[in-house]
Amino acid sequence: MKNLRDFTHPELVGLMAAMGEKPYRAEQVYNWLFHRRADRIDAMTDIAKSFRERLKKDFYIGGIKILGVKKSSDGTGKFLSLLEDGSKIESVLIPETDRLTLCVSTQAGCALGCRFCMTGASGFTRDLTLAELAGEVIAAISMLDEGERITNVVLMGMGEPLANYGNVLRFINVLTDGKGFGFSHNRITVSTAGLVPGIRRLGIDANVNLAVSLNATTDGTRSRIMPINRKYPMDDLIGALKSYPLHGKKNITIEYVLLKDVNDTLEDARRLTRLLKGIRCKINLIPFNPFPGAAYERSSDERAAAFGKVLLDGGYNVFTRQSKGADILAACGQLRGRYEEEASKEKPDDAF
Ligand code: SAH
Ligand code: SF4
Repeated sequence: MKNLRDFTHPELVGLMAAMGEKPYRAEQVYNWLFHRRADRIDAMTDIAKSFRERLKKDFYIGGIKILGVKKSSDGTGKFLSLLEDGSKIESVLIPETDRLTLCVSTQAGCALGCRFCMTGASGFTRDLTLAELAGEVIAAISMLDEGERITNVVLMGMGEPLANYGNVLRFINVLTDGKGFGFSHNRITVSTAGLVPGIRRLGIDANVNLAVSLNATTDGTRSRIMPINRKYPMDDLIGALKSYPLHGKKNITIEYVLLKDVNDTLEDARRLTRLLKGIRCKINLIPFNPFPGAAYERSSDERAAAFGKVLLDGGYNVFTRQSKGADILAACGQLRGRYEEEASKEKPDDAF
């Protein structure tokens, strides 16, 4: 049995043709899958019963199952979902004044093992399918209050999006397709730890926003905290960013998690201003979010402010990201997809 939600629009057109059906069938089915969010084939009521029966022989509509939701005091909502094979992933809904951002996971776990990241510490299970990526959006929509609408989608949850390149590209297709979820390219952001070939391909294949987790200013430090730097060192990464095609008003977001006494000196800040010269970018300084067993500490507010000032004086746009959802371990890098240990410490009505 195949999951119908694993097909993009062009793929459904091909499938319908192979089944000897007229092209309008692809439109109809696609509309039911992503727009009307049908959860079973029989819910597609304006599709002839005979055709539904035929579909049901080889296909089903699968999604992800929400196991529980946690709301942070700042409004951030994290939800834990179960995949068909028993893997668990998390997605986060982040409300801000003028937007409602959904942060999706692209893999169960992550193979890149960054030392400051809880997802990295939990190892890698597998890539998410298109049905699961879309399932995160559908699950989030199902939890919205009346009148609420997701305005932005960031691929910044568990996993490395560019290590699941094929499905991420197909997901972007469905996200931005007017007959799919209908988001503008400008409201989608892919965050990567710096897979250089993937960055180059993405620049050609899609027109979404790119965020890069730089997190250090020398190869020595970066390789220590992000082992992927040994494969794609900073020269290559910076080169890929310099040649990344930026359409319209787009710029690249440079993410920089401040780790006390590791990458937060003023010398680092100065080096960063030099490194990023010639790249149209804005810099997001992210306070480190500690988790049980983490080997790092958050930089002091004074240090973070001084670091930011060097960048501002260097002419960069600098934002200090607030740790939204930190109290429910929903902030950046805190997603892990396992709640047993955490849930056991909580009151039953809070626990999953
Ligand atoms: N794999 C991708 C996207 C997921 S990680 C990437 O690395 O970009 C999303 C962001 O969370 C990255 O910028 C990462 O540097 C940051 N991050 C990871 N662990 C963190 C932590 N403990 N505190 C703060 N930010 C963290
Ligand atoms: Fe993976 Fe990103 Fe975490 Fe690194 S920071 S381990 S790439 S999820």
